[in-house]
Amino acid sequence: MQNSPLPNAKPLYDAARDWGADLAAVADTSRLAGIETDPPELLQGYPRAVSMAVHLADGIMDPVTSRPTPLYARHYQNVNALLDHIATRVSGLLQSWGGKALPVPASQILCEERFTASISHKAVAIQAGLGWQGKPTILVTPQFGPRVRLVTVLTDLALPANKPLKNRCAKCTHCVEACPAGAIRNASTALHYATRSEALDLDACVGRLRSNEQEKHIPPYLCGVCVSACPWGKPKDSQKL
Ligand code: SF4
Ligand code: SF4
Repeated sequence: MQNSPLPNAKPLYDAARDWGADLAAVADTSRLAGIETDPPELLQGYPRAVSMAVHLADGIMDPVTSRPTPLYARHYQNVNALLDHIATRVSGLLQSWGGKALPVPASQILCEERFTASISHKAVAIQAGLGWQGKPTILVTPQFGPRVRLVTVLTDLALPANKPLKNRCAKCTHCVEACPAGAIRNASTALHYATRSEALDLDACVGRLRSNEQEKHIPPYLCGVCVSACPWGKPKDSQKL
């Protein structure tokens, strides 16, 4: 880690917001020990991870009640492109401060069988305190619920790290009831899930995602129904928790 810690991460957060991020926070990557990465040594030399989120548009998400829509498909791609742009700018900023930076692409599935990427942006965001792990293993933020997309930049700069939030799903079952595949197990929310299968029937979920591909204008692995259903993400005047 670089020897001269920054006094705070505010200049970084301000810049990320100027470039289009709606949320930004820093995770201590030692809290991610044991997480699967590709390559396995991805986190070596990077004690911090900057997690950033862009809020998906409510006008796009509200109609995603039983299947993804073509408008959501395009929005999803546009937001991922914006996140990659933000991560590139943030990496440049960290490097201009004398640090090393590694931007992880916003959406790049490396193993299609297990549905994994270089690193789980969601796991980083949870450790950075951007939100908690909801019952379908989605990230739920207090500000926008799960209606966000995420990106990560690894760095060796000694940025102050944030702490994880408590899970606030409680007895809510909106996503469980909305899931067209019946894939969400309605697991206890006392802690973050130790394994994905504790919370989700991944085969059922991925099976549904693959069937969505048959629809025109819908790219692989898109659903969004549980994301749309979560009351934490609904516009504030229509929330029902
Ligand atoms: S992504 Fe779709 S199929 Fe998978 S858990 Fe969410 S609602 Fe169910
Ligand atoms: S819909 Fe309810 S249970 Fe599902 S992630 Fe959101 S708050 Fe948690």
